[in-house]
Amino acid sequence: MPELPEVETIARDVRPDLVGRQILRVIVLKPDILRRTRRPEFVRRLEGTRVESVGRRAKHVVVTLDSGDRLVVQPGMTGSLTVVNGTAPPDAYTTIVFALDSGKRLLHRDVRRIGAVYLHAPAAWEAYDRNLGPEPLERTFTPARLAEALRNGRLAVKKAVMDQHRLAGVGNIYANEALWSAGIDPSREARGITAAEARRLHGAIVRILRRAIASRGTTVRDYRTGTGERGGYQRRLAVYGRAGRSCRRCRWRIVLTHVIDARATYFCPGCQR
Ligand SMILES: [Zn+2]
Repeated sequence: MPELPEVETIARDVRPDLVGRQILRVIVLKPDILRRTRRPEFVRRLEGTRVESVGRRAKHVVVTLDSGDRLVVQPGMTGSLTVVNGTAPPDAYTTIVFALDSGKRLLHRDVRRIGAVYLHAPAAWEAYDRNLGPEPLERTFTPARLAEALRNGRLAVKKAVMDQHRLAGVGNIYANEALWSAGIDPSREARGITAAEARRLHGAIVRILRRAIASRGTTVRDYRTGTGERGGYQRRLAVYGRAGRSCRRCRWRIVLTHVIDARATYFCPGCQR
């Protein structure tokens, strides 16, 4: 599932073609991708609006419109956004076509349709935003803020890091990578993490997310950038997907378990104890 670096890459890729452009027409081909807003209202509120900015919040692309509404795209497993030239007919997986005044079209595609598209009015957007934890790449995210996010609850530190109410944007791949980098056992209770460990983990999260953005994200299976390409960070993963192979730091074998949160947890029993 695309996490912060993948969604940031998609937003950056489509941004130059969207900012300042007017949306002339909206064609919803698969209405089941829409949440909370029905097709006629979705089309009516979008047609004629102009794009003010394209950003990201947590694992979602956020398109801010001059009407004050925000188009929020959650890529899910196979959702993608691309801008295309020309008038070739949309393929079977295209869910929404946005025709722009530049003559280009923004396409939302989703093969499995686990993703979702929202159109939030200002009040709904504020509620949505408030419900999410801090953005790890913003200045205000400090080791102390991470320690605070880990303070409550007996849940495993890996689950706490992935909890979007505590910290935004980190999912299974980057939680595994950051905990390895910080030398922390992913099954440990979040509230037992010391201040020194929180500092290490904070540094690891920020560093790894930045590097992954520089590599245009991680493609394990479905993720594609906003220009339709594979990311590059999968070649740099230290533990994720490397079960049975030797740790790059201590040479123990990387272990795979599903005990912590039913997700794939990869860790090194040698240097994460
Ligand atoms: Zn190791």
